[in-house]
Amino acid sequence: MNSNKQPLNDIPVRYVKGVGPVRAEILARLDIGTVEDLLYHFPRRYEDRSHFNTINKVKVGEYATIKAEVLTLSGHRGRGKAIFKMAVGDETGVIHAVWFNQPYMQKLFKSGDKVVLYGKVQPVGLGKIERYKDIQITNPEFEIIKDEGEEMIHTGRIVPIYPLTEGISQRGLRSVVKNLLDKYLEDVAEFLPDDIRARNKLPELKQALFNIHFPASEELRKLAYERIVFDEFFVLQVTLARRKARIKGSDNGVAHKVGGELLGSFKAVIPFKLTDAQEKAIADIEKDMASKKPMNRLLEGDVGSGKTIVAAHALVLTVSNGHQGALMAPTEILAQQHFMNLNRLLSPLGINVVLLTGSVIDKVPPQRGKVPPEQGKVPPHMVPPQRERDEAREEAKRMIEEGRANIIVGTHALIQEDVKFKNLGLAVIDEQHKFGVDQRVRLKQKGFNPDMLFMTATPIPRTLAMTLYGDLDLSVLDEMPKGRIPPKAYWVGEGRREGIYKFIAQEVTGGTQAFIIYPLIEKGKKEDMKAATDMYEKFKKEVFPQFKVGLIHGRLDNEEKESVMADFRSGKVQILVSTTVIEVGIDNPNVSVMLIENPERFGLSQLHQLRGRIGRGNQRSYCILLSDTESEEARKRLKALINMTSGFNIAEEDLQLRGPGELFGTRQHGLPELRYANLVANVRQLEIARKEAFELVNRDPELKEPGHRQLKEIVRRKFAEKTELKA
Ligand code: ADP
Ligand code: MG
Repeated sequence: MNSNKQPLNDIPVRYVKGVGPVRAEILARLDIGTVEDLLYHFPRRYEDRSHFNTINKVKVGEYATIKAEVLTLSGHRGRGKAIFKMAVGDETGVIHAVWFNQPYMQKLFKSGDKVVLYGKVQPVGLGKIERYKDIQITNPEFEIIKDEGEEMIHTGRIVPIYPLTEGISQRGLRSVVKNLLDKYLEDVAEFLPDDIRARNKLPELKQALFNIHFPASEELRKLAYERIVFDEFFVLQVTLARRKARIKGSDNGVAHKVGGELLGSFKAVIPFKLTDAQEKAIADIEKDMASKKPMNRLLEGDVGSGKTIVAAHALVLTVSNGHQGALMAPTEILAQQHFMNLNRLLSPLGINVVLLTGSVIDKVPPQRGKVPPEQGKVPPHMVPPQRERDEAREEAKRMIEEGRANIIVGTHALIQEDVKFKNLGLAVIDEQHKFGVDQRVRLKQKGFNPDMLFMTATPIPRTLAMTLYGDLDLSVLDEMPKGRIPPKAYWVGEGRREGIYKFIAQEVTGGTQAFIIYPLIEKGKKEDMKAATDMYEKFKKEVFPQFKVGLIHGRLDNEEKESVMADFRSGKVQILVSTTVIEVGIDNPNVSVMLIENPERFGLSQLHQLRGRIGRGNQRSYCILLSDTESEEARKRLKALINMTSGFNIAEEDLQLRGPGELFGTRQHGLPELRYANLVANVRQLEIARKEAFELVNRDPELKEPGHRQLKEIVRRKFAEKTELKA
């Protein structure tokens, strides 16, 4: 490493030969500001121009690379176009190179020049009758050879093709990159320790970067990418490993005493036998909570696997130690449901459960993927008296601050500035992928190093879990409560609509309930999709007049929502027309049918979540997708849903179909976007990089060894950039 040199990320790109102030502005549009940025501006593809053809062997319609001598040059105008024509020859024949509308080309060549040309071979007289048997190369890429043995960059080799922006050509950018490599490559600092590089047969960084831009062979190019992908995973995993080590290293958390009377009575009131997976998760959690080191654990389990009771156990444990427990959920409906369940179960034990929800109008978290935002406005008469809500909220806040509230259930309202806990011992975040990093951190900061339990019903593929949650410990509920019958899923076309309605009527008559799901609240002007409010009216009046039909969506106010959900739980509402507000967490075992309209508008994992709302009782249940979609991609998704029942398989499939960014919003997790590595294609590299990273951090948590200095610098820098992004 050249430690006395200026780091490449500090050198403005305009200092690279051939850039200057004008091109620097053009490059800025490609997010290239420094020498390092340009070094990491990788080709989007390559063209193999390394195989030379002799002129007698070129074929019409194919690309050819030829090495020849310039014979004659001629410029003229034909039908309004400037045409520059150049005859070149080698020992086997003569061919013409022709450029249209580039008269300046003529100045670049002179007869006798040695040139290499690359381009498509075409018959002369394009589009007209072939009068001559002549062929030509049109608008070829070229290189003028000054000295034999001189390095070529535009032809005669594997040539990089870069992502461009207006104002700079491939040729221009390529030359600039070459200048950059000539001047600065030597100053690229190696940050991977030698032993890791050797063990994994990775090239030196300098070498890798050179071969990314100007690979001498396909092999070297591949090797170079191995290195770059490894780097990206490795730096991320080192960050995660250090974060984890830091949490584990601190021992100023709450050491809970496990056991006691309260926990005993809680176990006695659980209305079912826990699954082995639940027992195991509880054991993991108790062990963590007993320790003075703060817990940082993810509880992962498919929809319906029974995470809530595991959380309840942990909450009771903290209460039995004289602490408060918090449970944060992403929607009002879900918070409400958790509150009711916990209150019912725990208030007889003398535990005071309090609900704290926030604003008057539920803020639906932004929906990802294909689903458009819900449309529609709240009618003024539906807004509840603000004063009553405020008073209830103030009282809840006092109870929390004074410690009269033992378990606090709520939405984002929990992390508002003005909410103060007396002594938070455990914070649980349900459906945690719906929250941003800063929100999770803010909840943690409501206490003094409280234990943290994160729960997710979105089954995260292993590789992704390793990236997103690499700093968490993991418990998995890989087993469903006994007696569950997985819902049957069907995909039918519009032609079956009436039949489906009849089927729903038949089920409901039998005493069960139904969900009918729409992507939209109200019909937009351009959309030809059905929407919840319109269909609700139709169902109520025309299709299911004999049943009680309810409507719920994100724009209803909280009280409205609460009352609809209460009616649905009690069975007073038999058919619930809904948007995706019921996507997460809602638990009503009596529902036996779910009809999803325009299912092509939802992502695969989202469909699985929706389907997870049914099949929670012991009767048969049916999830029906009604769609005539022609989209190949959507059809794949729908097929995958009806063929798979395991959320884990579905998530893997979704990852393949959509990629991680869209699927889980990697940005939201506060992790840097992966630029070169791919979680689907590069699983093997991820696992190796993770192993190496954790071993290294284990040996040298502070990265103090001299050989780790450069690595520390990079990790620090990536981390700093990330916090900057968040601001
Ligand atoms: P999720 O993991 O999706 O959050 P829930 O915690 O909502 O699942 O549990 C789904 C349903 O299963 C609830 O009605 C819950 O009472 C019930 N349940 C949980 N564990 C068991 C069990 N061991 N045996 C029977 N039913 C259970
Ligand atoms: Mg749940």
